[in-house]
Amino acid sequence: MEVSKLGKNMLWIVWLFVFPISMWLIYKYSNPIIMGYEWDIVSFVVLTGFISILPIVVNDTTILFTEGVSLAVFLFFGLFVEIVLSFIAIIILLIKVRIGMKDSFRLPLNSLLFLGTSVAAAFVYYLLGGEHGVIDMSSPLFILPLVGYQITRFIVNHSLLRLYRQYLQGRKLPIITKDLLWEGMTTLLHFPVGLVLYMLYVEVGLAALLYVGIPLISLSFMLRLYYSSQRINFYLQKATELGHQLAGRQKVAEVLDLFIEKISEMLPVDYAYILDLVAEDEQLQVIRYFSKEGNEDKVLPMKRGEGIAGKVWESSRAVLFHTKKEYKSITMGFMPVSVESVICVPVLRNQQVVGVFALASNKRRCYEKYQVMIVDILASYLAVAIENARHHEEAKNKSERCSLTNLYNYRYFEQVLEAEYQQLQDNKTGPLSLILLDIDHFKTINDTYGHQSGNDILCELANRLQNIIGELGIVARYGGEEFVILLPNIDKYSCRGLAETIRQMIANRPFSVQDDLLYSGEEIMVRITASIGFATAPYDAESSLDLVRHADRAMYTGAKQAGRNRVAEYVK
Ligand code: GH3
Ligand code: MG
Ligand code: MG
Repeated sequence: MEVSKLGKNMLWIVWLFVFPISMWLIYKYSNPIIMGYEWDIVSFVVLTGFISILPIVVNDTTILFTEGVSLAVFLFFGLFVEIVLSFIAIIILLIKVRIGMKDSFRLPLNSLLFLGTSVAAAFVYYLLGGEHGVIDMSSPLFILPLVGYQITRFIVNHSLLRLYRQYLQGRKLPIITKDLLWEGMTTLLHFPVGLVLYMLYVEVGLAALLYVGIPLISLSFMLRLYYSSQRINFYLQKATELGHQLAGRQKVAEVLDLFIEKISEMLPVDYAYILDLVAEDEQLQVIRYFSKEGNEDKVLPMKRGEGIAGKVWESSRAVLFHTKKEYKSITMGFMPVSVESVICVPVLRNQQVVGVFALASNKRRCYEKYQVMIVDILASYLAVAIENARHHEEAKNKSERCSLTNLYNYRYFEQVLEAEYQQLQDNKTGPLSLILLDIDHFKTINDTYGHQSGNDILCELANRLQNIIGELGIVARYGGEEFVILLPNIDKYSCRGLAETIRQMIANRPFSVQDDLLYSGEEIMVRITASIGFATAPYDAESSLDLVRHADRAMYTGAKQAGRNRVAEYVK
């Protein structure tokens, strides 16, 4: 969730007013212990710097083990030095995670957060009689302010963070969040560590920094490793889930939609592209494009070696770019100008590139190396899922269509007829018309020009019918040289018009065939005619079968017997 621009600007303005003045006041009134300890303070700063280089990020919360050091510094040197130290830690951290200008508001944000926390905690500390420098630790008067200090820190820090998330980021949060538990646990670690550091420092001086600092740094290291393997596990689990879900989709479009949807939930994605390698054209074609903002950028096909995707195709290797600078020299300009981070992976099947998948973010350094591995795995699931869906679509297509004309077959037609008739009965649609067409003297055509020529004519007729009907209804091969057309929401009058147009289109425009009987291979033009019958439900039929039967009757008695090459409607 993003902080609005206004929110960011406000943070900077508040910071510019509050921070310097607060620092001056704190310096003036808190009697910091600095004189004579300059090098000690510098040593603490160095230790803090080391620890700040190893931040652990859990659910957007950055956990730093600098807090223990801060506590020791506070106890000995006072509030002012402690705040300066925390400020340095934040600057190092922000440099380390390399935030861009857009996120620079995190400096005022974080420094205001800990300023508030530190001042409130110090206030409680002083109120309870807390002091600085070398304190008599055996006295219970030492324990009380110390505990008060730490509890206040915890409560104020958590409350401020919560306010920030709810009001500036606009998140809804449950009372107990995972972050709260994390903060609680890390406080249990920081507090004794800080205390021990302070005590040791009082006893043995700067050597304390080594005794406490080294285990702290190695702990940071270990936790980072642990947490990153946890994150990878999390992504692997998500990836496996997506693999299963993809395998269940039977349409290519569904596979692509699901893939884009899930991947933009898993990773920050401003743009995503699925490119398919079209072997005949030797180029990559975008088959699915996603833009978070809903932009409608057009991406032209890419040749091998062209642009980021073309390079990935050429090398069969995934690439990761952290900033625009890194990819600027190879892009063909298809990437939107705002893009900074890019992951681009080849989609492989049997070690062959069959496509390319790319995702991009407007943020710099948005993706990490292990995420490239995850995307790579996802891309292989995608390849399998697309192939399966394509097979499924092909098989379905085959089972629904006639192999000669590629029109729907009668079996499929019957299903549509059933469904449309039901719609009509439920009063959901208007009249349902059905046209039946039988070529006249087709046997003679076969005898004269050969069976193959007969087939050519059937195919051409199928094309012509499909072109005339288009989206108006569906055309199917009824059998042999007979065709059937279903026209939902078309009344008798319009249906007669259509049937007449079809009759003329057949009779007036000759069909071209190769004369295969004479083996001359010459193209000749053949004139044919057809007899057409039609019926319209609900007037002409009481069931879906009736509708077919009656159109057939009209065709036979009204058209064929009346002399052929004519259109006839069903009469009771
Ligand atoms: P009419 O309908 O005008 O009474 O005469 P017709 O010659 O068309 O008669 P009929 O409908 O009885 O014959 C259909 C002929 O269509 C029979 C068969 O030779 C031919 N035929 C059927 N299916 C195919 C096909 O798939 N390819 C070819 N080339 N011919 C076919
Ligand atoms: Mg026939
Ligand atoms: Mg016929």
